[in-house]
Formats: sequence, C-alpha cells, structure tokens
Amino acid sequence: MRIGVPREAAADQRLVAATPKTVEQLIKLGYTVAVENDAGARASITDQAYLDAGAELVESSQVWQSDIVITVDAPDLAAVASMNKGATLISRLYPDDAPDFVVAAKEQGITALNLMSVPRISRAQALDVLSSMSNVSGYRGIIEAAEAYAGMFAGQVTAAGSTPPARVFVIGAGVAGLAALGAAGSLGADVRAYDVRSDVAEQIESMGATFVRVDAAAQESADGYASELTDEQEAATMRVYAAESAAADVVVSTALIRGKAPITITAEMVANMKPGSVIVDLAASSGGNCELTEPGKKIVTDNGVTIIGYTDLPGRMPKHTSQLYGTNIVNLLKLMTPEKDGELAVDLEDVIVRGITVTHESSVLWPPPPVQVS
Ligand code: NAD
Repeated sequence: MRIGVPREAAADQRLVAATPKTVEQLIKLGYTVAVENDAGARASITDQAYLDAGAELVESSQVWQSDIVITVDAPDLAAVASMNKGATLISRLYPDDAPDFVVAAKEQGITALNLMSVPRISRAQALDVLSSMSNVSGYRGIIEAAEAYAGMFAGQVTAAGSTPPARVFVIGAGVAGLAALGAAGSLGADVRAYDVRSDVAEQIESMGATFVRVDAAAQESADGYASELTDEQEAATMRVYAAESAAADVVVSTALIRGKAPITITAEMVANMKPGSVIVDLAASSGGNCELTEPGKKIVTDNGVTIIGYTDLPGRMPKHTSQLYGTNIVNLLKLMTPEKDGELAVDLEDVIVRGITVTHESSVLWPPPPVQVS
C-alpha cells in the first residue's frame, strides 16, 4: 500500500505528518511513501531529505490518491471527496464538532482514524499524539515564559550582588505540567506544583519541585482523567492558587478535565500578581484556565502581568514536534500492520483501533465505547 503525506493546507501549520526518519520506518513496514512537494518546508525538511529516505515526491492531486493519507490537521471536505473509496485517513479529527466531515468520510467510503481519541491505556502510550503535543507545549511554554519574564530564571551570585531564582508555580502535573516543571527546574527556577490528582506528588518531588499541599484533593477517575471537584474542594484549591500566584513570578496552568479547561486563575488573582510576572495558559486552546486569557495571543494587563495564551506551541518547534508526531503514526501503523507487509489491517476487536475509528466501510462508528485505563 502507498502512504501519502500532503503538505498541510493551513499556511500557519508548520508541522508535517512524516519526517525522513519516519519515512524510513514506514518503508520497513512494507509501505511505499509519497510526499507532496514542499510538505516539510515549514518544518525545515527539504524534499531531497525525503527522497534520500526513500520516498517519492508527488503533486497535491496525486498524494490524495494514496491508500493511506496521513495529515496533522483534518482535511477539508473537498480533499476527503478526492480520496479513493476504501482508503484510510489518519489525522487529528474532531468528529463531535465536525458532523459534515463524518458524513463526507462515510459517503466517500473511507476509514477515518482519529489520533485525538487514542485510549489512555499503557499499550497506547507510544502512539498518543495528545501526550506528544502536551510534552512539547509544556517545554515551549517555559521558553516563552522565560522570554517574557522581567527577571532571570536562575538565581545569580555576582560581584554586583545576588538575585533570587524565579518562583514558578505549575497548576496541573499531567504530561504538559511535568514537562514545564522539568524545563523550569533545568533553567534554575524554584518550582512548585499542584495537581488535583494527589498521587502525582511523588512524581513532582522526584523532579526536584515542591508539591503544594491542599487539604481537599480529588482522585483520578476510572478512565484516567481527573474527576470534577466538589464545591468544597474547589474553594480550598482556589485559596491555594490565589496565595501561590501572588507569590509567583511565573504561573503555568495546564488543568484539563476530559479536555475541558476549568478556571484556575481568576481576574482577581491576576490583579494581585506582581508586575513583570507571567502566566502561561497551556489550556488556552480549550478555552483557557485564566479568566483573562485571549487564546492565541500574548497580552499585558494594566498591572503589568503578561498572559500568554498561544495555541500553537508545538508548531513553534516544528522539527522535533513533527518527528514525535510522525513516530506516533509509525507506532500506530506497526500495530495495524502485524505482518510488516505494507497491508493495513483494521482490527476493530483491538481496543486502540476501535477507539480511534470514526468511519469504516461506509458506516459511522463514532463515538467509540468507553475504555477503562489499564
Ligand atoms: P490532562 O491534559 O487531561 O489534564 C492535565 C492535568 O490537569 C491532569 O494532571 C489533571 O489531573 C490536572 N487537573 C485537572 N483539573 C485541575 C485543577 N482544577 N487543578 C489542578 N490540576 C488539575 O492530563 P494528561 O496530561 O493527559 O495526563 C494525565 C495523566 O494521564 C498522567 O498521569 C498521564 O501520564 C496519564 N496519561 C496516560 C496515557 C496512556 O497511558 N496512554 C496517555 C495520556 C496521559
């Protein structure tokens, strides 16, 4: 079978779904790979590098004629309509928000696989695009904070006197939060962190940060997500966030509950923060954890607090993010190509495959049944 790698349609999408390294891995699985001209240009990957890896270069019209098409963003309806019946699309899809896409995929008779719905089970970690993107966002969020912060992250002891390390408070210690606290610590900051899942305290402390204790904490639910807080838990948590943000130089908030962003930083808390301090809202693309976040923007409040709501953090490091994204796809295709013969097997009995299948053989299979974490 042939795998097609289109140039991403959106001009501001810098990622690409395959890199030369992942092209080599796809070929080892028995596939041939066709890359659209200039597909990797925005990630600093040349056409020649794809050719050297064994891919062929094709025009846009041909790339969509592949047996399997892999993309970063969901294609538009015209692109779906240009695909062959029986072909497979692997992409980040939003079936609940895009019913037209689901209908088009069904009518076109394609298998649409959604990388946004990989079940949160151990076996699926290697193909979990959300984790890869969160990891990069956490790291890059700290780089953005360091650039915007009015001071230095590491404490300095010099002949001209000393300055203290930046105090960084991280809210939510999932994949993004742990990456952020690791990056902040490596720059020399004094890092504190909190998560409603109290069992992450050990992980936070093992990375050299301080786990901030709150009297009332929630637990992880059976599907691996944080549970909603009760009113009492929420009040206790918000009191701690108010005190921590007032003392912090940088606050990084990553809190999500099943993809929805709770408010963790109110306008009042921002008003009590120090001038020159920074908030990085890593939940901005889900609406934001800070009441004042403007998704996609960096703003400065009247009291001199910078609020970073960028939603394109993974795309700001397109070379390595494309590598991670492409590897997630290789790992999915390893699972779905058991014979390594370049033939895709859609085994709906496999909980991972079932969890990501939106349409197959002209049927809509969305939403998938719930999966318990292992
Ligand atoms: P997430 O993006 O869903 O949420 C981010 C973090 O915010 C979570 O740690 C959550 O507990 C926390 N949170 C929610 N509300 C909060 C609040 N009000 N205040 C403070 N924190 C709040 O989480 P994630 O990064 O995807 O990962 C969560 C856990 O799931 C991690 O332990 C991760 O390793 C695990 N995970 C496992 C897999 C897998 O096994 N395949 C995949 C992804 C994540």
